[in-house]
Parts: sequence; C-alpha cells; structure tokens
Amino acid sequence: MRKTIIIGNWKMNGSILEMQKFIKEIKSSLNDKVESGIAVPYTMLASLKESSKDLDFRVCAQNMHYEDKGAFTGELSSDMLLEVGVDTVIIGHSERRTYYNETDESVNLKIKKALSKNLLPIVCVGETLEEREANKQEEKCKTQIIKAFDNIDASHAEKVVVAYEPIWAIGTGKTASSSDAEQMAAYIRKVLADIYTAEVASKIRIQYGGSVKPSNVREIISQENIDGALVGGASLKSEDFVELIK
Ligand code: PEP
Repeated sequence: MRKTIIIGNWKMNGSILEMQKFIKEIKSSLNDKVESGIAVPYTMLASLKESSKDLDFRVCAQNMHYEDKGAFTGELSSDMLLEVGVDTVIIGHSERRTYYNETDESVNLKIKKALSKNLLPIVCVGETLEEREANKQEEKCKTQIIKAFDNIDASHAEKVVVAYEPIWAIGTGKTASSSDAEQMAAYIRKVLADIYTAEVASKIRIQYGGSVKPSNVREIISQENIDGALVGGASLKSEDFVELIK
C-alpha cells in the first residue's frame, strides 16, 4: 500500500511568522491517512522544525547541493539541512531546471546524496507545453526518469517519490485532466518497472503537481497510479492546505 503524500511548495514566499501561524492553523487537521509537509525557503527551515516538533509533518527543503562541502557560494549541503531538522528535499523542480541550470546529471547526484543521508527525495519530472503539443511527453519523462535513477539500486529507488509535474500546468491555473495525469503516472510506473521490476515500481510513490487545489485534489489523487500531490500556490493558505489533506 502506497501512502498518500501531499507536500506544499512555498517557493520564495512567506515569512517565519506566517509559517508559524500556518502550522498553528493546520495542526489539528493533520491525520495519519495522509503524509504531509511543506517545503519552505531555507531561512524558515529551523523554525519549521521547531514549530512542528510534536507533529507528524515533513520539514522539506526546495533544493540542496550534491557535494558535502566546498566552494559553492550560495549553496547548502545535505548535512546542513539535516542539522536544522530537514527530512525531505525537492530535487529537480522545473523552476530549478529552467532558471538555475539544474540538469538530469545533477538531479541524479542529488538523489543519490539525499538517499545516502536518509533524506526523502521528491524528484520532479514533466514536459513543457511545446513537448506536450508535439506529443513528446512520454519521451521527455522517460529520459528524465532513466537519468534520475541511473545507478540507484532497487532498495534505494523504492524510497524515492516522483512528482509528475507538466510544466505548462505549474502556476498557470491549468490542470492536466485527471485521466491525462493518470496516464502519465501509469507510464512513469511502467518506465520504473522496466528499469527495476514491477514489484519495485509498485512501491514507488508518484505525485501529480500542477495547479492542484481543494476543488480538484480528490479527483486527481483518487487515480490508481497517483499517490499524492506537490502543491504550489494552494499550499500557502492554511484553509486551502487543510482542505487538501482532509
Ligand atoms: C509546484 O510548484 O510544484 C506547483 C505544482 O505549483 P502550482 O501548484 O502553483 O501549480
């Protein structure tokens, strides 16, 4: 049984005070049917850990470096994240791939590093609008998945969460139809089965991301191959987040 996982991605939004208020407002709605958490800017991580210390709530970073230390101005290592209580890290978000030169190779190195440090990696894949219009969504995601999981053994692969996020649906208000999202999640699971085995692939959780909100979350996550959601905009308001994890 794959447990549903819903993670909010705050991107470069919010403040420590807003995050503390958010946690107070959502905490009575946390439940053991849904694993949940938020990925906040680095400056809020220690405080998120403190605010959620008695809760079953994931403390997530939005990125990390794959090296342990060194001359990488502006970057943070896995150990630095662990030191402030992070347990989950988003890797290869399309905004990092688009604006900060994140490549399939660096995504792979980051996943390996996260797994070696017992951090839960959420690896994002997904096609652009042009790729979707050219019917290349499967080809794009297959390449991203094969490269992301390169040289990762099955026992580690099972722990990774994949977020299928069609780039044209992120922050645009356009959501993939639940059947399109399911079709892609099923395809990604097939690619994983081809890399590993059907049994291993059946254990890997696949989220959908792209304009998920309270009004569409239920239909999306009720699809057979979709095990949760990565949510940007709608995760910023506590009342929406409460609806998402209900
Ligand atoms: C995201 O940031 O991963 C995302 C899916 O954003 P939004 O929900 O705002 O489309």
